[in-house]
Amino acid sequence: MDKRTGLPVVGMVGAGQLARMTQQAAIALGQSIRLLADSPDDGAALVTADVEVGDYRSLPDLLRFAEGCDVVTFDHEHVPGEHIRALAAAGVTVLPGADALMFAQNKARMRARMAELAVPGPRWIDLSAAGAAGAAGGPTDSRIDGAEVRAALARFGQDVGWPLVLKAISGGYDGKGVWVVDSVADAEELLQSGPPLLAEEKADIDFEIAALVARSPFGQGAAWPVVETVQQDGICTEVIAPAPRLSAELADRASQLALSIAGQLGVVGVLAVEFFVTRSGGLLVNELAMRPHNSGHWTIEGSRTSQFEQHLRAVLDYPLGSIAQTAPVVVMANVLGGPADTTPALDERVHHLMARWPDVKIHLYGKEFRPGRKVAHVTALGDDLELVRGRARAAADYLSRGDRAGVPDHD
Ligand code: ADP
Repeated sequence: MDKRTGLPVVGMVGAGQLARMTQQAAIALGQSIRLLADSPDDGAALVTADVEVGDYRSLPDLLRFAEGCDVVTFDHEHVPGEHIRALAAAGVTVLPGADALMFAQNKARMRARMAELAVPGPRWIDLSAAGAAGAAGGPTDSRIDGAEVRAALARFGQDVGWPLVLKAISGGYDGKGVWVVDSVADAEELLQSGPPLLAEEKADIDFEIAALVARSPFGQGAAWPVVETVQQDGICTEVIAPAPRLSAELADRASQLALSIAGQLGVVGVLAVEFFVTRSGGLLVNELAMRPHNSGHWTIEGSRTSQFEQHLRAVLDYPLGSIAQTAPVVVMANVLGGPADTTPALDERVHHLMARWPDVKIHLYGKEFRPGRKVAHVTALGDDLELVRGRARAAADYLSRGDRAGVPDHD
């Protein structure tokens, strides 16, 4: 509790753009978040007064950071589960808790739990040592026989058809940690020197969607309209709300599934469930994120309650806010860093963009522009999908690369 204001203090582990935008929401609630940052230059550390610089993998650092926090939550999923349990045992309220968060940290556990809950997903097998030994029914033995793993992969490929998708069980993001392989031989290098892996059937994807929901400890739930997420090379480049190609029936099913997953896993805060919509019209869960998510950035302007405010409300067990959409079409486009010699300079690009499209909202993350890195996003709102989408895309490309192709002189 902040003695001066009498309002709660939310601690956030990690100080990237998610924490930065959470701080923005906290301000309106009379709060200021407390951060555990890797560096004082992190995007959120630059805009937050109460910053502890430390290592999220160190329990002493986490314990020191948690002092004075009413609740501790996360900007990323990398805090070791045993540390989260130790914090909870020391009396710290950590939300989401370790029992929920492990399904966002470990794709094999997530897949196994989704199967138990009869939630549809791609067929998969665990190729990691513990998983393979478990699958063989034998004792858990870390000296897993490599030949067995290769045989299991060959059988799986035969059953579901090549190519397969191999994934790092933990730690992947933005498509880093996802590989498509055509054969066991093609997977050899990864099997030998890659991280612990699972293999998945390559889904016949028509398009990808995300269902974003929030859940409070009281059990209140809120589901934003389901969005389409446009991916390029494993990176989300655009989010369209509501998902224009999705039938009302599938949208409803995705929302219900996400709310049910949040309840069954005991998630508190924001949960994003990424789905594939297959060409045969099926829904498959791809992955879970238990924090504000890139697929929800559009809610800052596009919803009465942003995902960042809702996450704070949820972890503080405040009643949740309205998720009504503020315009018929909302499109968020990510801005990836372009070449270092991009011209005109960023400040000038911002200037031009503001002049051209006063209604496009720019969110810069306070990060250095590096090629391919998510450094900002833009949001456009309106009635006409093609127009709004074109504007968001062109604005993002212009900020990213100074590419004027989509930026007309007159609108
Ligand atoms: P990350 O954790 O890096 O975001 P994801 O598991 O979301 O990784 O995968 C990134 C992208 O790779 C997905 O958005 C999708 O386009 C593609 N992908 C992942 N799994 C599969 C799959 N089983 N079948 C087909 N494509 C997949």
